[in-house]
Amino acid sequence: MNAQTLNCYSCGAPVVGDSPNCDHCGARLQTISCPCCFGMLFIGSKFCPHCGTAAAEWQEAPSEMTCPVCAGAMLQGTLGTTRLHECSACFGLWLDPATFDKISRDSEQRAAVLGAAVPLDPQVDSLQPVRYRPCPTCREPMARTNFARCSGVIIDVCRPHGIWFDANELQRIVKFIQDGGLDVARTREQEALTEERRQLEAARSSPPLDYGMQSTAETDVVDLLFDVGTTVLSHWLNDRS
Ligand SMILES: [Zn+2]
Ligand SMILES: [Zn+2]
Ligand SMILES: [Zn+2]
Ligand SMILES: [Zn+2]
Repeated sequence: MNAQTLNCYSCGAPVVGDSPNCDHCGARLQTISCPCCFGMLFIGSKFCPHCGTAAAEWQEAPSEMTCPVCAGAMLQGTLGTTRLHECSACFGLWLDPATFDKISRDSEQRAAVLGAAVPLDPQVDSLQPVRYRPCPTCREPMARTNFARCSGVIIDVCRPHGIWFDANELQRIVKFIQDGGLDVARTREQEALTEERRQLEAARSSPPLDYGMQSTAETDVVDLLFDVGTTVLSHWLNDRS
């Protein structure tokens, strides 16, 4: 949890550490996510300190799921109109694919409205030992994916069931999209595609011809789009192919 960047909603004192109470005035400091940028804000705040959006109501209920990272109890709830599961211990989030797709599309629309600039500032995750986490629904190990291949945010994906975000990862992805990150990703995908076609052409014109090669390369491109972890990107490319 990124509590250090927050101030107590009641007295304004900076909040240090993960204490559930304000050191200064003792107010109980529970956090929820902003419905727009998914940054953390305190329950009781009217507006998000990161983006200024009005806070949404968070309604929660116990969940059968356990956290794939810390095995803590998870809550299922609705944040405004977004359905999600949250680990009550490590604040990781679990979203089903359709919900994440909607968040991605909303963020894209916002990027278009804001005319967000191109600067891309990916925080690349430090090299940590790779651990495959179990899907909280089917318990199969999830695939690890660098979201949109260039965001630097590594998410865990079970294609049929959902996507896992460690604390703050969804916020980073939303920021990445709002900053125009998907446009950059698309440009790179197109370049990679063009380069692959060029190599295919070159291979075709030089005997002996390997007939297996074209289908392999095309399959790789399709896989690559799915690996991106968001259907937004593949929709966009499909629309234009
Ligand atoms: Zn306070
Ligand atoms: Zn916000
Ligand atoms: Zn957890
Ligand atoms: Zn699963």
